[in-house]
Amino acid sequence: MKASNGLSRIPELALRQRRQGLAKLLPPVTEILRGSLVERYVTCGNPACKCARGERHGPIWYLTVTLGRGRTTGGIIPEEKVAEVRAWIGNYHKLKDHLEKISEINRELLRRARADERKRKRKGR
Ligand SMILES: [Zn+2]
Repeated sequence: MKASNGLSRIPELALRQRRQGLAKLLPPVTEILRGSLVERYVTCGNPACKCARGERHGPIWYLTVTLGRGRTTGGIIPEEKVAEVRAWIGNYHKLKDHLEKISEINRELLRRARADERKRKRKGR
């Protein structure tokens, strides 16, 4: 376990406060969506339509979700849902990012607890 995250010089109290701050900033876990929002401009197939001359229809919004091993799912997102979907995808990344930072802080606190324990044992001999 390498302490390359830059936390090793921060006082323990500050780390605990930072952890608390991150926990408070977690987005509501009910408003989470994993995936990407992509916009497409499409042709409808009617040769008389303006889209046949290059003025495609759109944007049409899709949510694409990777399920692993190159498998994806998703579907069309109606225009009026795009802002919400975008916010929920943002929440997903924010939640993941914050959980990772909290996890880093906890690893650092564990590392210090272990270092303190070793120090105490050496003194106690
Ligand atoms: Zn068309």
